[in-house]
Amino acid sequence: MELDFRDAVFGTEKEIQFEKEVSCQPCKGSGAEPGSTPSYCSTCGGHGQVSRNQGFFSVATTCPACHGEGKIITNPCRKCRGRGRSAKKSSLSVKVPAGVDNGLKLRIGGEGEEGDLGGPPGDLYIVLHVRESDTFRREGVDLILQQPVSFVQAALGCKLDIKTRMEKKPSLSLPEPSMDIGSQSRAGVPHVRGVGRGDLHVRLDIRIPEKLSKEQREILEQYASLSHEEVQKGGRVSSREFLIAESTGFNRKLLLQQSRAFAV
Ligand SMILES: [Zn+2]
Ligand SMILES: [Zn+2]
Repeated sequence: MELDFRDAVFGTEKEIQFEKEVSCQPCKGSGAEPGSTPSYCSTCGGHGQVSRNQGFFSVATTCPACHGEGKIITNPCRKCRGRGRSAKKSSLSVKVPAGVDNGLKLRIGGEGEEGDLGGPPGDLYIVLHVRESDTFRREGVDLILQQPVSFVQAALGCKLDIKTRMEKKPSLSLPEPSMDIGSQSRAGVPHVRGVGRGDLHVRLDIRIPEKLSKEQREILEQYASLSHEEVQKGGRVSSREFLIAESTGFNRKLLLQQSRAFAV
């Protein structure tokens, strides 16, 4: 069953449709056309077993003609073609508890297929497939929100209104200069079995501008000269390309890690 990310977190109720094998109505599961009776198997005389002599011993085996049934259906039921069972469309309203995750199996007792010879029905298992969210990721019961901020916001600090559709807007202040993690306890996913819930972690996705205006570039160059950083002056390349071109191996590794973080 397909589930929205949000429904998996908060729980939902869904109508599902499925087919299950039930005892065939016209023949009442016997497999013989109504009004006809199965004939006794002539191979085993209705015993379902045949004996073979092997030296001094007599070995009983399942009758190959009737497969142990003792009867042979000469006039099979037209509805089920002698199988005794037929597929029936069923629908069911399923309660999905809050906090379920991808791959989890829900067991619904007594909604499975009927047992052989009128035995009690088995259970129905529903495997959940949770769609991904654009905004959130899950790590167990913790929600991870990837929040884009500019490198200036990260450096100077800022107040962010985190737009989370999961909860009422929590707002987070970034300390100055910013580290990359803020979190709200118990704003995550409820434990599917048990009490409590996980946390919401906000991870900052620090963005470097793709393009700089002349003025922005000049200000950054001033900043660089104040902090004695060597930069390429007046270049036309975008800052990102510039960083890649000029970076040491170490920086390159950092950039790669960052771009992986962006991809999440
Ligand atoms: Zn039938
Ligand atoms: Zn037989």
